[in-house]
Amino acid sequence: MGAGHPECPQRLSAIEDRLLISGVGDALDRHEAPLAPLGDVELAHSRMHVAALRGLTDGLRDEIAAGGPSHAAIDPDTAMNIHTWDAALRAAGAAIAATDAVLAGEMENAFCAIRPPGHHACRDRAMGFCFLNNVAIAARYALERHGLKRVAIVDFDVHHGNGTEDIVAGDQRVLMVSFYQHPFYPEGGARSNASNLVNLPVPAYTKGAQVRALVESHWLPRLEAYQPEMIFISAGFDAHRADDMGQMGLVEADYAWITQRIKEVALRHAKGRIVSCLEGGYNLDALALSVEAHIRVLADL
Ligand SMILES: [Zn+2]
Repeated sequence: MGAGHPECPQRLSAIEDRLLISGVGDALDRHEAPLAPLGDVELAHSRMHVAALRGLTDGLRDEIAAGGPSHAAIDPDTAMNIHTWDAALRAAGAAIAATDAVLAGEMENAFCAIRPPGHHACRDRAMGFCFLNNVAIAARYALERHGLKRVAIVDFDVHHGNGTEDIVAGDQRVLMVSFYQHPFYPEGGARSNASNLVNLPVPAYTKGAQVRALVESHWLPRLEAYQPEMIFISAGFDAHRADDMGQMGLVEADYAWITQRIKEVALRHAKGRIVSCLEGGYNLDALALSVEAHIRVLADL
């Protein structure tokens, strides 16, 4: 994204370091992320969107060769360099590969330590640090390529997953549940009243206890009734109280608690199948500790 941007490579380094120091990493199977096939990306995005991102990358390469800038601005917060397109394809490819592995029974669940994040990426538009909607692509892939009938998407990032909503609103094969700080970014994002969405806006300074109550009263009854065959998580950790990107008050124990509730639903209805994809989380210490807490629950550690 350019120097000083919060969506930086150090986010993944911080997670890797924490998994190493805590010993959690020793218990995990690791897989490299393949490039997502474009045909699978287009399960959630228009062909125009894919062509536009590829074209921007090619244009950037030409500009750099001519001595121009190294980044192309997508919006005030979001920029591409010549590696962004491949990185986005690998992020989506990780979610797809994890979906394949979980549905093949090779593992019960998977966490995708990926960037760029995805949940602001709309069907036709990159925005908010996001280019391809990793979770929406994987959810559609599970439906279209593996023949599942019902999947759930759980989004606990501090920001509204407007891109995911844009892609899945009205698609009754998907139930999306989320909470997000409101009013907040992205104000211009889609807001749908579609019946397959349980998106709960909460005010700044909402703490974990209030979020847990909303999960109990709003998410869990809908998830239980829906009986998803697989659950995808947009795992953003920027609702952490130490994360200045948002103004919410969650802590590691809240992420562990939410993950446990999701896991219980998955064990009851989905053979435990969960694919969790990293979204936001910009305070490196809080991000690393929260991911550790999330993975400890997923992996029974
Ligand atoms: Zn976020």
